[in-house]
Order: sequence, then C-alpha cells, then structure tokens
Amino acid sequence: MKLLVIGSGGREHALVWKLAQSPHATRLWCAPGNAGIAAERLARDGAAVECVAIGSEGLPELLAFAQEHRPDLTVVGPDNPLSLGIVDLFQKNGLRIWGPNQRAAQFEASKAFSQRFMEAHGIPTARSGTFNDPSEAKKFAATLGGRCAVKADGLALGKGVLLTGSVSEAERAVDEIMVSRAFGAAGARVVIQEFLEGMEISLHAICDGSTAKLFPTSQDHKRALDGDQGPNTGGMGAYSPAPFLSEEDLAATRKQILDPWLRGCAEEGVDFRGILYPGVMLTKSGPKVLEFNARFGDPEAQVYLTRLENDLVELLDASASGTLANVELKWSRNVSVCVVMASGGYPGAYAKGKVIRGLGHAAQLPSTKVFHAGTARPGDEIVTSGGRVLGVTAWAADLASARAAAYAAVAKIRFDGAQRRGDIGAKALP
Ligand code: AMP
Repeated sequence: MKLLVIGSGGREHALVWKLAQSPHATRLWCAPGNAGIAAERLARDGAAVECVAIGSEGLPELLAFAQEHRPDLTVVGPDNPLSLGIVDLFQKNGLRIWGPNQRAAQFEASKAFSQRFMEAHGIPTARSGTFNDPSEAKKFAATLGGRCAVKADGLALGKGVLLTGSVSEAERAVDEIMVSRAFGAAGARVVIQEFLEGMEISLHAICDGSTAKLFPTSQDHKRALDGDQGPNTGGMGAYSPAPFLSEEDLAATRKQILDPWLRGCAEEGVDFRGILYPGVMLTKSGPKVLEFNARFGDPEAQVYLTRLENDLVELLDASASGTLANVELKWSRNVSVCVVMASGGYPGAYAKGKVIRGLGHAAQLPSTKVFHAGTARPGDEIVTSGGRVLGVTAWAADLASARAAAYAAVAKIRFDGAQRRGDIGAKALP
C-alpha cells in the first residue's frame, strides 16, 4: 500500500516509524515531515520515506498531491486539518483517508460541543457552563468561587485553557479570552468548568464508527518544569502504562465513559473513525472527562506506538473501513517512556537553528528511539526548528529501567539551550 502521512511532529514521526515497519507499506510520503522522518526507511525494501513540502493545513495542495500520487491510505496526525475537514474533502474526491470527519472532529474543535454531548449522554465530567457573554461567564465563575478552568471554545494549539483560583483571577481569564482575544477567534465563546482535583491520565481508543477499542493507560506531563510547575505546554514527556488504574478500574472507566460516548455517537449519527483521546481526571468521586481530543496525543503516540504489536497499516485500515471488531489489540508488556527535549524558552519565545549533536550516539542504544519533532536539515547538520525538538523514547521491562534508558539517551544529545524535565514518570515510581 502507498501511504501519505500528514503532519511534522513527534507524533507523526512515531506514526511513520511504525507504518514503515509494515510489510504492506510499499511507498510512504509525509507532508511536511521533519529531519527524522526523512531518515526513515521501509522495512520491506529499504526505500526512503519521502518528505513533501506541503504544510498540514494546505488542504488544496494536499488534495492535489494525493490526486497525482494516489496513496491507498492517507493518515492524518494533527487536529487542525481534521477540523478544517480534510477527511470530508478527500472522501468527496474518492480518496481513502484515516481520521474523523469534520463533524466528528468537533469533539476536539469545540469544547462547547463536547460539553453538551457529555451532559446529554451521561458521561461524567466537571460541572460547567458555556457562555457567549463575558458578564454571564463571570457570574458563573463566581458561583464556583473562582476555582475553575476557563476554556476558549475553539482550537488554540493546546493553550486555550486558564486555571484560576479566585474570582478576580477568573474574571481576568474571561477578559483575556473573550475581550482581549488572547487565543483569537477560538475565544468568542468560553466553557467554564469547576476545578477538579486528582491524578490526570490520558486514555486513547481507536474507533471505526461503531466499535471502540481502548488502549492501555498513559500519562502526559503538561507543565514545562519539574514537579508540574511552570506554564502549560504541548507535553514534555509521557509513559505507558500508568499504574493508577487497575484492569478493573479501566474496565469500569470504559463502561462510564466509552460506552455512553459510543451510544451518543450512534444516537446523534456521528461517524467517528480515528483516535478518541479523552483527558481524564481521577477524582475522589470517580473518573471525569476534562476534554476530548480527536487524534493521537503527542507525546502519547510515541509511547503507545513503541508498545503496539499490531501491524499499524492493518489497524488504521480496519478503523477506516469499520472492521475493528475483528481486530485484537496487542501490546508489549514493556513500559515505554518518552522524554521531550525542547528549545530554551519554550512554551514562550525560543531560538531556532541550533545544531543538534549526539544523535548518532543515541541511535546506537538498544530499545531506544529518538523521535524528531521540531527538527530540520538545511545542510549537512540537523538543527532545531520548533519548540519541542525531540521525543527521546526508551522501553524496558519496568518503569525504572525504561526511565534510566531514556535519560541515558537524552544525556548523549546536546543543543544550545536544550531544556527537558527530569521527572518524567516519577509519580509512578514505587
Ligand atoms: P484541556 O486542554 O481542556 O485538557 O486543558 C488543559 C489542561 O488544563 C488539562 O490537561 C488539565 O491539566 C487542566 N485542566 C483542564 N480542565 C480542568 C479542570 N476542570 N480542573 C482542573 N484542571 C483542568
């Protein structure tokens, strides 16, 4: 099968790496890809993965490329093209593509849509309100004593959520999002949720419109600094499995969250084919959904895909075709840990073009894979080109060994200003 992957981050490198291992993959393009993706080769015949200089939001250009090269399946990594309707566009033009259509992608593209859906179908979530008017929003925040999450309704690069601890902070947050439009048009409407306390975990399920198969647990690390301090980021590291849910808890969570979600989709005629990724808070009164995403998490994809034993081409094909019921997910018993190396200053302003050294040494380590995110190769050397630069991933029989291996690989890699957290997975250590 000829495959086209859309996106350029660590998640997409992990997707390309895993797809390239499949004997079904005969040709693989990635638009736009990155320096690490361009270095991958197909297991079948050693052919190079080809990066194509089209951004993931260039829908007309992506369509034209696909019409010319006829991939048998296009795989969409990031949320933006999904919410722009790339799946509908490709399907209208007779091209097979994996990912939720525009309507289904609303689970991520509109927090108001998700909140209404959860309330309508009995999915446990935070007490919340949705507002088009700042003064109504502030009144509601005051009823929560100002302890809340103020969320821009639309997509905001994972940044449109402000956590507040007092009425005055909540009022400032509403003004920032709705009046100053700190996150642009995404802030025309806000969702305000009560502040939930507990351990946060990531769930992923692969869906085919009627069946959903739950993945093992994982945990992301959203804050920039050790000990969950500092600003929210796209994710500074992840590991899987996360030991905070037993098999029984996971089965109960499936009943409480995934089953009503599937019933709701059937009732409302939402045809969701792709990854549903609920962010879940394990509270004293049970699991509650904070938000839904409609694609693989990044860096969760890096830890899941280094544990997945199924052929990814077959799995995504089944998800797109509606035949997931026949597929059994198989996971290695290893623990996988991904440590993100980011540019100095991220998630704020940062410099680009810093030469990355030591990648060759890290590549020689066993049970380790350095996924690239913001990297480029303008000449002979690989340089930084984004906030999150690398997702250094290692796997081993237990968490302590996997962490040690991931940090040993991190220690081999250098670039000016590199920052990383030193405590990825630490919460789960005995
Ligand atoms: P979201 O993009 O909605 O997942 O929010 C980003 C991050 O903000 C989450 O990963 C949580 O760490 C935090 N957060 C979101 N909603 C809440 C909430 N209701 N209570 C506490 N923390 C939250």
